[in-house]
Amino acid sequence: MKNEAFYTNLYAWYAENHRVLPWRETDDAYCIWISEIILQQTRVMQGMEYYLRFIDRFPTVSDLAQATEDEVLRLWQGLGYYSRARNLYKGALFIAAERTRLGQPDWFPATYDDLRRIPGVGDYTAGAIASFAYDLAYPALDGNVYRVLSRLYDEETPFDTTAGKHLFRNLAVELLDSSHPRLFNSSIMELGALTCTPTSPDCESCPLRFACLGYAHHTAELLPVRKARPAVRDRYFIYTIYLCGNQTLIHQRTGKDIWQHLWEFPLEEVDHLDKADFVHQLSHQKIHARFDIKKVSELPPIPQTHAVLLSELDDYALSRLTLRALEKISGSVSRVLF
Ligand code: SF4
Repeated sequence: MKNEAFYTNLYAWYAENHRVLPWRETDDAYCIWISEIILQQTRVMQGMEYYLRFIDRFPTVSDLAQATEDEVLRLWQGLGYYSRARNLYKGALFIAAERTRLGQPDWFPATYDDLRRIPGVGDYTAGAIASFAYDLAYPALDGNVYRVLSRLYDEETPFDTTAGKHLFRNLAVELLDSSHPRLFNSSIMELGALTCTPTSPDCESCPLRFACLGYAHHTAELLPVRKARPAVRDRYFIYTIYLCGNQTLIHQRTGKDIWQHLWEFPLEEVDHLDKADFVHQLSHQKIHARFDIKKVSELPPIPQTHAVLLSELDDYALSRLTLRALEKISGSVSRVLF
């Protein structure tokens, strides 16, 4: 696999085809960290909007560390997987604390091991920041890279198992161009995003076709292999939107569950719902939800709830489901109110 033509072809293809993206135009490790966290489970175009907004509001890690968690969550609103935003915030606090401890006001993790110490930064993100910001020779295995590697090597081991992760990491280390890690990682990721796509890979215009075993063996479209997925759990939620004049009740989710620290209307979880207004799909859960609107002369004293003006709801970090419901039922709310 490793010969000169492999890298020359790959880099020539990248030079001609890569997308110009703001996080590729910088070697600022903070910006790259933000982009990598946003891009996990998010499409590039949607991620770009959030990235620009985030960097505009928090241009440096100190700005992020000085914010409140609620403010960070609000900026993240609509992007889902909120643990990423919480980890970014925790990461900024961690870096600020390290700066104080070390007496170095500009310190930022600059080795793979230090990057791994940032909350929420795993092997992939540490490898991505190490290579993109510091040009250090570490692989960065995201979904695109797993797919390209499994096809190049015609490797059927499921990549999301412990054995698979180990095997693919070794392949990635073996293939990495340690003289140009930034260029190599960017190129292989972009090839996965644009050419070696999950379905119908464009092998005819692929610069690595000559070296690809998946292409030679006609197995490319069957790869990569994943382990069997755990069953999705169904949950049934009944939300009540109390309306008292222009006030309503909300509460903040706590405990180890979905949408931690986000705000929503008072909720009752039940075993079954005959009819749901919304079916909201999360990675391992399917939420069936109903929203009941109740006009009341006095807001009920439900523990842990908070009375807010309807016009203030925008100031709270709301779950995606709550936002969807608000969009859909705003007409009904106005009808009940007026
Ligand atoms: S030849 Fe096809 S399967 Fe192989 S790396 Fe290129 S696009 Fe992917």
